[in-house]
Amino acid sequence: MPTTEPERVPGPAAARFPVVDPATGEAFDEAPDQQPDELDTVIDRAQRAWSGWRTDPAARTTALRTAADAVEAAGEDLARSLTREQGKPLAESYAEVARTAARLRYFADLAPRTRPIDDGRPVRSEIRWRSLGPVAAIVPWNFPLQLAAARFAPALAAGNTVVLKPSPFTPLATRMLGSVLTAVLPEDVLTVVTGREPLGARLVSHPGIRHVTFTGSVSTGRAVARAAAASLARVTLELGGNDAAVLLDDVDVEGIADRLFWAAFRNCGQVCMAVKRLYVPARLHADVVETLAQRARTVAVGPGLDPTTELGPVNNAPQLARVEDLTRQALADGARAAAGGHRLDGPGYFFAPTVLVDVPPDSPVVTREQFGPVLPVLPYRSLDEAVEAANGTGFGLGGSVWGTDLDRAEAVAERLDCGTAWVNHHAELSLAQPFAGVKDSGVGVAGGPWGLYGNLQPFVLHRPPEA
Ligand code: NAD
Repeated sequence: MPTTEPERVPGPAAARFPVVDPATGEAFDEAPDQQPDELDTVIDRAQRAWSGWRTDPAARTTALRTAADAVEAAGEDLARSLTREQGKPLAESYAEVARTAARLRYFADLAPRTRPIDDGRPVRSEIRWRSLGPVAAIVPWNFPLQLAAARFAPALAAGNTVVLKPSPFTPLATRMLGSVLTAVLPEDVLTVVTGREPLGARLVSHPGIRHVTFTGSVSTGRAVARAAAASLARVTLELGGNDAAVLLDDVDVEGIADRLFWAAFRNCGQVCMAVKRLYVPARLHADVVETLAQRARTVAVGPGLDPTTELGPVNNAPQLARVEDLTRQALADGARAAAGGHRLDGPGYFFAPTVLVDVPPDSPVVTREQFGPVLPVLPYRSLDEAVEAANGTGFGLGGSVWGTDLDRAEAVAERLDCGTAWVNHHAELSLAQPFAGVKDSGVGVAGGPWGLYGNLQPFVLHRPPEA
């Protein structure tokens, strides 16, 4: 059949890298290994798209609402892709997709407020808000979709364009999300790039990027801040955590056990705001340990696609090695595993849910971020000692206090050095709240209106008053 299509001459095969299913440890697909020199074109297009996107807030609201609908419509495919490459149980992937859509919808309806400056001077001056330009959004592998939305939704709502780079451990669901969104957004307003380092390093140091919005580890966050300094781009960094939970002596151990267990072990402990250290009054220690260990021993560990699974694998081989090393070192230093303490036999990156006791307080599993299914439970004798230990690391993301007397628990929570503290909960977050770590856990504020303003700059207009 005659055709007007030009003949396609096959070029060199584009580079690709393997994507591993953590439930098997085997590669099951590939993603484009984009090279840093491709970024010039991508960012140039993002810059050009900005000129249209920035000017029409009403069109942005409509587009972002449509984007939220499109994410929900693709929910099944997105969730399956996410579980396959990330490992989490399918029900949690559905929840992650739902939160991704909710975040888009929340920011679609948020607009900055123009305000007069009323200082009594005879001028009319007004604070308005302007977008920044192309934004680089970089995210880790633990919640690829919802953390991506946490970065790009406020940036887009503010009128910026976004170049989004997922972790090379979880590129596929994000690429699918990118296809879903680019089908309904104006061209080049959002671009997903995938590839291995130095793609991220080059993206954050590119002179065309005006804001780097990053979620990841403290060490990479420092490298990102250094790289962005070259172009003086704004940085927002949401970094690691080592959240402490402090149980008070009036706590109802059995009543909180499930909530506390999942605050530590959800997503296989790979949550920035997971409970990563637990401080317990000495006289309750044995009871709390046995209660948590019993759950750790009986929770259903398996592939995320199996509907009976409650806890999936660790996401990747280096992370599994890290969890294993920290656990082995603690055991060598005198700790004892009340549950778990080892990898599970068979294929995949499975680690037995682990509760550690007799852990030296300076053991790296306590002082660093284990980011895996391992919880050290430490006894304390005085509340001051517990608060001091809880505040005694360089991290300051979240923390929690658990007890029956809520006023007393709140007073202790007030003393925690962190961005968010909970009573009888942990890591319950609202889209409308500011999200910010203190100390090494972050720079800048995301979440709620603060997330929107973090993607804007003030513009002040002065003029004489009407005659
Ligand atoms: P990571 O820092 O290794 O990687 C994060 C992202 O940065 C990835 O996309 C990675 O490819 C990219 N990257 C690596 N080197 C880079 C460079 N030089 N320049 C630019 N980008 C680069 O973190 P991870 O192991 O993927 O994720 C786990 C960490 O993320 C944990 O520390 C966890 O606490 C943290 N985290 C923080 C939050 C938060 O909101 N505070 C949320 C989730 C995870």
